[in-house]
Amino acid sequence: MKKSLHPEYVKCEVTCACGNSFVTRSTVPRMRLDICSACHPFYTGKQKLVDTAGRVEQFMRKYEKSQKLQEKALKKATKKKPSAAASTSAVKAENKAGSGEKST
Ligand SMILES: [Zn+2]
Repeated sequence: MKKSLHPEYVKCEVTCACGNSFVTRSTVPRMRLDICSACHPFYTGKQKLVDTAGRVEQFMRKYEKSQKLQEKALKKATKKKPSAAASTSAVKAENKAGSGEKST
């Protein structure tokens, strides 16, 4: 082997986010994993959400927000009288018709 070319092959302590840890050999002395063979669904056979950096939580928060907005919109829609909505659409139609007359 050439000198000062190859990295040192040392003992490596690997710790996973699930709490599992084991010792192996690598060029780095310590490794932190998000997932390992003790907790990966492929090995455990159980379905599990692999959540890195709280992406699931982020999505749930977004989802809740959108649901609340939708509820608000629904409430607004039900509060408004149907006749009022119809009248506004009628006004719009009139405007369109008026513009059309001008152009001709
Ligand atoms: Zn693990």
